[in-house]
Amino acid sequence: MITQHYQYIIIGGGLAGVSAIAGIRERDTNGSILLLSDENQLPYDRPPLSKKLWFGKKKVEDIFLHNHQFYTESGVKLTLGTKAVAVDAIRKLVFDNKQNEYHYEKLLIATGGNPRLLPIEGGNLDGLIYFRTLDDYLTLKTRISQKPSVLIIGGGFIGTELAAALNMNQIEVTMLFPEAYPVSRVFPESLGKAIQSRYLEHGIKILNEDKPISISKLGNQYITKTESAKQIVTDLIVIGIGIIPETGLAAAAGLKTGNGILVNEYLQTSNQDIYAAGDNTLFPYQALGQLFRVEHWDNALNQGKYAGRNMAGANESYDYMPYFFSDLFEFGYEAVGEINSTLETFADWQEVNHTGVIYYLQDNIVRGVMLCNVWDKVEQARELIRKAERVTPEKLVGLIR
Ligand code: NAP
Repeated sequence: MITQHYQYIIIGGGLAGVSAIAGIRERDTNGSILLLSDENQLPYDRPPLSKKLWFGKKKVEDIFLHNHQFYTESGVKLTLGTKAVAVDAIRKLVFDNKQNEYHYEKLLIATGGNPRLLPIEGGNLDGLIYFRTLDDYLTLKTRISQKPSVLIIGGGFIGTELAAALNMNQIEVTMLFPEAYPVSRVFPESLGKAIQSRYLEHGIKILNEDKPISISKLGNQYITKTESAKQIVTDLIVIGIGIIPETGLAAAAGLKTGNGILVNEYLQTSNQDIYAAGDNTLFPYQALGQLFRVEHWDNALNQGKYAGRNMAGANESYDYMPYFFSDLFEFGYEAVGEINSTLETFADWQEVNHTGVIYYLQDNIVRGVMLCNVWDKVEQARELIRKAERVTPEKLVGLIR
């Protein structure tokens, strides 16, 4: 077997992997780059899959990060539909599923995560849509042309965004999730319940505090049975119950992993020539003084860039504070820091549960800020979190408007 040599190999064609190209090229205009992606599609932007593509604000052709020409002109060998199956960290080799062997000088593992599967009878039935990729979007888009009834399992980001999107496309939607209200890991209770009421007003059926226990098929329909003995019959089932970070390659290569691939502030794994970035990366979140793994777009974008620059010798500490955003009907928000509903929260509303700022606090120190229909204030929120000063609620009133 001929070993192909590349100065830089990137495993993973998501946003983190593709952003690393720009990072590398900022410092090294010539070094050879190989990007291995197991998807057959050109690398694309994921947020529109559950948002803008459904609202007519974007078309599929708008979501690709770059065209083929970009990769050629950037000196990147882009290999689609190819999965890296092993890394030999001692000999600095990557093996793919097509019996190719590649030697690297610096390697980036940006393999993201895979949808968590329902651990129940029928959880792997044909036709269930575990929603994650552009192909999943295309499948769902084709199937809703017949105006089916849809059950969405999971009340997190995918579940809530898709429920709103399908409802706006005149599709009959039922949501099923275990928590008392949607996105409960993020929203404080009163906001979560207010969002839930709006979903109900829009005609979305909600089965909360319940879980599926089995799925079966009768003709073309699915029958979902739940813990509370309900039976839901729908034409389609879409599932978003979280992802499992892809750490297998790294662990098998002997790298330190936990709830993600462990990296230092330079995004280097426990092997100094191997970096990680994106959804699967457990990194020191400097402003929060703690290890975090962040499954959002802006982290992938920036962490990928930093990793690329560092692979090309920059030695820059990742001190960026990624934000995230979501749109649920007329409720849009941006958030930064530790957005965790188990923290204490203080809401400074201009219009209750619609426009205002939610502060997430620990020991009276702001750890996270959610800006609800308040725009262009992420930087101000970052500064507040970075300061890590003790505050009283009175000090927060009117602070960010
Ligand atoms: P998610 O936001 O983690 O939500 C998972 C949901 O599934 C939670 O409601 C969870 O409940 C529920 N669940 C877990 N096990 C279940 C089971 N057996 N039966 C029914 N429900 C179950 O994950 P996601 O919505 O699938 O999103 C996938 C990834 O895409 C995430 O990384 C997310 O951050 C990312 N994403 C981000 C955005 C954005 O930033 N706007 C948009 C879309 C997707 P518990 O909380 O009780 O476990």
